[in-house]
Amino acid sequence: MLVPEIPLLGKAKEENHFQGLLNDMARNILIRSGFVSFTPSSDTDVAQFIEHFSGLWERVGDGFTPNPQDIKRQMDEYESILYDVWRLALRNDFASGPTPLVAQAAVTRTANPLIFRSHRLKRPVVIMAIEFWLFIAGTVFGLLHWAEGSGERETVGKNLFISSVKRWVTNDPNPSTIGRDLAEAATLDLDISNYAVGLADAAFTWAFLHEMGHFALNHLPTAEVMRGMSADGTATATSIVYGHEDELAADAFGFDRYLGLMPLTMELRQHIRFGPQIDHAPIVAFELMDFAYRLESRYDLLNSSSHPAPLERAKVLMMSRGSDLSEEGCDWYGYWSERLAALQVELLG
Ligand SMILES: [Zn+2]
Repeated sequence: MLVPEIPLLGKAKEENHFQGLLNDMARNILIRSGFVSFTPSSDTDVAQFIEHFSGLWERVGDGFTPNPQDIKRQMDEYESILYDVWRLALRNDFASGPTPLVAQAAVTRTANPLIFRSHRLKRPVVIMAIEFWLFIAGTVFGLLHWAEGSGERETVGKNLFISSVKRWVTNDPNPSTIGRDLAEAATLDLDISNYAVGLADAAFTWAFLHEMGHFALNHLPTAEVMRGMSADGTATATSIVYGHEDELAADAFGFDRYLGLMPLTMELRQHIRFGPQIDHAPIVAFELMDFAYRLESRYDLLNSSSHPAPLERAKVLMMSRGSDLSEEGCDWYGYWSERLAALQVELLG
């Protein structure tokens, strides 16, 4: 598991575990893994979102209005593009034997990616909770609009940052307005959009590789059933807690495979925003987690028995791989750090 937020072993079987946009691949994996209850978004919801997004996009001012059909097709393709990137990152691992099944899904009971061994399939399943992607995208959009904008844009940015933090830390399962807020943020400034989406994809990729690290390094218990998760992440259970050492080892595995994608930048750029300037993505993700816990006064999650504190994990990664990070990455990280520090002063004092 990525951060200290732990499945609650209890009876939650009747509840919906998943909600929101769910493609066929994810749906099939989840059904086969024993998750039978989820609520897919209705076609009407999807159509309305796309129409709203198209309207916002007109404001960007290049005279181009996207075709709703194109947007729908791109949304469908997007998920499989990420799967392809992840497969590339693990191109030198798992030459033989079954690898975990992977589902990107909106999970109602956790805002974080996790891996567990499916009792039914006798095979590990990685659930990539898209709330984590939304947390990174929302906070990065928010922070950069706050830092770069003035007047209304500054306020929009700050509010988006705060609401993204709250959603992630409290794991608010309500289908809220975050999609619309993000869509609005995405049409204010194309450079910031490229950066925020690229960084969210990068952090999501690294989070996936962290979970695969638990599998590769044999951290998984032999069988477990995910019955439910605590809404606020405070419940404790025994089976998915690996301990600090295992988390650091999974972090290192994930960072190594993530950095291993850098030589493939030109190839990846045909499909997603990717490049050495975002090689600090895991570090930035840890800093955002630390900020989020403090903003919500969740010191229990900051100092957990299962996971080292986020900044400690960032420090360990920097100590082991800092010299492998690129000049572009360091430049961008300098730009980021200044603005992050400013928002911390503004919000935390
Ligand atoms: Zn973990």
